[in-house]
Amino acid sequence: MSALSLHGIRKDYGEARAVDDITLDFPDGQLTALLGPSGCGKTTLLRMIAGLEVPTAGTVTVGGRDITRVPAHKRKFGMVFQSFALFPHLTVRDNVAYALTIAGTARGEAAARADTLLDLVQLTGFGDRRIGQLSGGQKQRVAIARALAQEPEVFLLDEPMSALDAKLREEMQVELRLLQQRLGITTIVVTHDQREAMTMADRIIVMSKGRVEQAGTPQEIYHWPATGFVAGFIGRANFMDGVAQDGRIMVGGVALSLPRPAQFLTGSAVQLVCRPEGIRLGAGLAEVNSIEGRVTFVRDLGPVRDIYLETRLGRLVAEQSADQSRVLAVGDRVHLSLPPDALRLYPGLPVTLPATALAAE
Ligand code: ATP
Repeated sequence: MSALSLHGIRKDYGEARAVDDITLDFPDGQLTALLGPSGCGKTTLLRMIAGLEVPTAGTVTVGGRDITRVPAHKRKFGMVFQSFALFPHLTVRDNVAYALTIAGTARGEAAARADTLLDLVQLTGFGDRRIGQLSGGQKQRVAIARALAQEPEVFLLDEPMSALDAKLREEMQVELRLLQQRLGITTIVVTHDQREAMTMADRIIVMSKGRVEQAGTPQEIYHWPATGFVAGFIGRANFMDGVAQDGRIMVGGVALSLPRPAQFLTGSAVQLVCRPEGIRLGAGLAEVNSIEGRVTFVRDLGPVRDIYLETRLGRLVAEQSADQSRVLAVGDRVHLSLPPDALRLYPGLPVTLPATALAAE
């Protein structure tokens, strides 16, 4: 099986453009997450890959073969939906064997294959149960086993964890990733949950308004967001509006240095981003980019503490690991620095996220 590719894919619903000129390759055996806020076009893109929607323009190819207009049932793609879409009147085994029996596999053989798949998803012995007798996590495993029954070339999952509670979701993310790696199956997962994408994916495609904002490994996306939008959507970030001046950035009257002089003309509006863990608390006054701050709130999360600060740069949140010696309290004054390496710089305006806002976790 060779790589799945999209070339100039577009989807219009009347006047509205849901997906706008997307060109992507999905490398063999990798898990790619399509990540973005509600309405950014993730599901529409996945449905075009699955053959459940026809693009307005562009092509879908597998191994160079154009499959844009091949209907879903003729593609060897397995799909798991948000709702699982299991047959409640059938047993677990018959749900998994369903596609095989429809395709003409003998009943006994289909049942044996279903049992093997149930072993694979750790549901050994559940074959005779009805769907209604399963927990959410078990239903999801059945849906995965069913999608894998026909040995799909590509495995597509649309928000596969959204019906599960938070703890089970994390467990299933790890399990699904291990299963995908063991099978080496090319997989695409749609999610709006950045932790889910970071946990499972080889590569994350961040989407916004029907377009690709950035494609990269989880590490690239987290540490080197291509845009302010990505910086705000993945992880948490302090945003500061500034103005470029002779290679440095002026924010609230403070001149901040970058690792290299800023490539923006003096006077241009820029946006600076710093992750909470990038801020150094207790910095010496002589340190580059050091300022004073006043603690306004402390959020103790166990292994880390979030320290909310009022500074000349605006309100900032710094992350302090619990083993750091000085325990800060509301009202404390502290020196902090924003090391140049921890700063990321983007063109200013239009500012899409409120300054100093912390993206939702
Ligand atoms: P969510 O996470 O909320 O499911 P999404 O990123 O998957 O969002 P899509 O479901 O792909 O987004 O929708 C993208 C845009 O296309 C939205 O503005 C949506 O309202 C629109 N859209 C999707 N399906 C249709 C349709 N069948 N008819 C008209 N508009 C549609």
